[in-house]
Amino acid sequence: MKPKTKHPLFLIVIAFCCTVSITCASNNKYKQPKKSDITMQDSLKEAQKLAQSLKRKGISDERVLTAIANVPRHEFIDKSLREHAYIDRPLPIGKDQTISQPFTVAYQSELLQLKPSEKVLEIGTGSGYQAAVLCEMGVDVYSIERFQELHLTAKETLNKLGYHPNLFFGDGYEGLPDHAPFDKILITAAPKEIPQKLKQQLKIGGWMVLPLGGSQGQKMTVVKRVSKDKFTESVHGDFIFVPMKEGTAE
Ligand code: SAH
Repeated sequence: MKPKTKHPLFLIVIAFCCTVSITCASNNKYKQPKKSDITMQDSLKEAQKLAQSLKRKGISDERVLTAIANVPRHEFIDKSLREHAYIDRPLPIGKDQTISQPFTVAYQSELLQLKPSEKVLEIGTGSGYQAAVLCEMGVDVYSIERFQELHLTAKETLNKLGYHPNLFFGDGYEGLPDHAPFDKILITAAPKEIPQKLKQQLKIGGWMVLPLGGSQGQKMTVVKRVSKDKFTESVHGDFIFVPMKEGTAE
């Protein structure tokens, strides 16, 4: 009797099926998403909607809108406030401070007119959200916070999300003389007067965006360094920020 051998076509079919199943298993499209992935995907959808609403409110820099759409804002606030994370509102972050309203974050970022790789100093790290938006825009971020606890929490959140700005615990009025000059400086708390040491840490041709004024409200101001000793100022609307205070705190 002739020994029973498998037909070569049969072997080819088996080999084909194995290859297809291996390819599918390694392809994300066919993977069952983990619960945490689903939450992150939902959040980014919410962040996208938030960016669209900011566009309707007048933000036109697409790079700013894309950055807002890519940052999971809920990660920067307490879990109990999760449902408010993607509403255009400031929210408490402890120490009597707030994460800025998304419109304000976008408005200040737009006024900075950032170019990739520019060196940017932020005063008032707070939750770290604005720093994350700046990182998304591809700039070299330096940020100072006067509350040690907020500084440490922001660092943890940012690093967990894969953002690695240069974070400092200290008094923003001093700036960072060792890292100056900066292309742009962004102040996210309100000083009553333009901080002189920060002006001197601007590159010539660079500028600073700050809410200028007392507790009754501030004017969003852009201070441009046009030459070594010459600065110009322009005003861009009314806002309310927490005050910029001197010194550091626990
Ligand atoms: N950019 C922040 C907004 C935080 S509110 C965010 O995205 O969440 C302003 C922050 O400025 C507060 O955390 C406050 O503690 C900080 N701040 C106020 N005065 C400061 C100073 N002199 N130096 C550094 N940070 C200061």
